[in-house]
Amino acid sequence: MDKKFDVAVIGGGPGGYTAAIRLAQLGANVVLFEKEKLGGTCLNVGCIPTKNLLDKAGLIEKIKKNTDAGIFKEAGLFSWSKILAEKEGVINTLTEGVKNILKSYNVVVVNSEVQLISENIIRDKNNNVTYQANKIIIATGSSTLMPPIEGIENDSVITSTEALNLKKLPKTLLIVGGGVIGVEIASIYAEFGTKVTIVEMQSSILDKEDKEAVSYLYKKLKEKGIEILTGTKVQKIEKNNSESLVKCIDLAGNKSFDKEAEFVLISIGRKPNLENIDLQKIGLKLESGYIWTDKTMKTSVDNIYAIGDITGRFLLAHVAYEQAVVAAENIMGINKEINLSKVPRCIYSHPQVSAIGRTEEQLVSMKKSYRKAVYPYAANGKALTMKEDGFIKWMSDPETDQILGVSIVGYNSTELLSSIIVAMNGNLKTKEIGEMIFPHPTLSEIIKEVALTNCSEAIHLPKSMNKNLLKK
Ligand SMILES: Cc1cc2nc3c(=O)[nH]c(=O)nc-3n(C[C@H](O)[C@H](O)[C@H](O)COP(=O)(O)OP(=O)(O)OC[C@H]3O[C@@H](n4cnc5c(N)ncnc54)[C@H](O)[C@@H]3O)c2cc1C
Repeated sequence: MDKKFDVAVIGGGPGGYTAAIRLAQLGANVVLFEKEKLGGTCLNVGCIPTKNLLDKAGLIEKIKKNTDAGIFKEAGLFSWSKILAEKEGVINTLTEGVKNILKSYNVVVVNSEVQLISENIIRDKNNNVTYQANKIIIATGSSTLMPPIEGIENDSVITSTEALNLKKLPKTLLIVGGGVIGVEIASIYAEFGTKVTIVEMQSSILDKEDKEAVSYLYKKLKEKGIEILTGTKVQKIEKNNSESLVKCIDLAGNKSFDKEAEFVLISIGRKPNLENIDLQKIGLKLESGYIWTDKTMKTSVDNIYAIGDITGRFLLAHVAYEQAVVAAENIMGINKEINLSKVPRCIYSHPQVSAIGRTEEQLVSMKKSYRKAVYPYAANGKALTMKEDGFIKWMSDPETDQILGVSIVGYNSTELLSSIIVAMNGNLKTKEIGEMIFPHPTLSEIIKEVALTNCSEAIHLPKSMNKNLLKK
């Protein structure tokens, strides 16, 4: 006999567990299925482990800077195994936390792989038990997209999951794909002494982000010894003793060359986890290969909702969290729509790149007038005390003074972005932000100063730099 629930959630990542908690808070009887570990990609093999390793890599970077300046006498020695152990500890604390919260709301968690076999029946693949639910939320996430490159089955070819758990630091790492994941993992290993090469088919790494911010990052990554080969395609991976021989082609010059690497990381993108969903029988509509939903997160089937990476919108944990709340509330009769017009984009590379709203390139292609200002970290006292550089770039509407887009490249920019998120969502004007009192000395003062520069009123910039650029 089927076990019956009000709502069944498939997948215990940021999307699934958030939806389950919100549903239970609103009084639903909920079952949550997770085939691996609660927390999904984000907590186990994504956001958290990368940031943990990036934090340690950041310490090395800091020590190096101070050693180069002669302030520290010796570069830091570290234990890679301790670093990995600490990372596992953080993951366990967080996943246990999720487990306890779910328990506190009486969510039934079933640790098993399940299949969605009809619009309200779920089958447990391990023991043939079936579950019935009035409403279902699909939150099965995404996994690494493996390109059809000859030799990809080679055992030195890895995904981000293995890259975060290498027992020994590799001497060389070749990363196929200069997107967010590729650039973050490059930042980790380069700092720990691995010789890293990024091979990117497009003409730039992070090709959707602000060009000025990306070229600044590019320069910094090169200074760290990271080789970046853009406009280059990997054609074949051959095993060559203990290393891989990676056959590349420079697309512009049509020139072939080889690179050797101990590990080859594939990070060209993600694909939706759809294999356990009987799409055709249920009649779920797809969009670009991902599950289509409306703004309430409802799919083309009335009682089924989809959230997180499986919807293919932003493939970010913070988007999954919000989609989860929207789906849960609609299921429980609270009308809510997802608004994805102001999603923050954060790259935790060294230095970090963060953005919200439009990039300058987007504004140009939209033929939208804008007022642009740039303010350097070099003009900020706190940044100087920390030996940090970078810049913030601000674009506002010349008529309304409202923020159109902001990009920051530099230390801790992912934290700095949050006040801009608040300002944009609160429809604050640039001038209003410039008139607020920010704590001194903090990096956040660059936000006030760039807003003032956008109004040509910055105090801590010489006259020649204190002006916006009006583009029509
Ligand atoms: C290396 C890396 C770094 C990242 N860093 C960031 C970051 O810094 N910030 C950010 O916002 N995002 C980051 N992301 C993206 C983020 O991890 C995802 O957007 C987020 O995890 C999506 O949540 P989700 O719930 O949709 O899916 P997932 O987290 O993938 O969870 C889906 C869950 O469903 C389970 N599942 C799938 N099928 C079944 C089934 N049939 N039965 C039972 N269980 C099933 C899976 O085991 C998985 O646990 C990163 C991703 C990677 C790979």
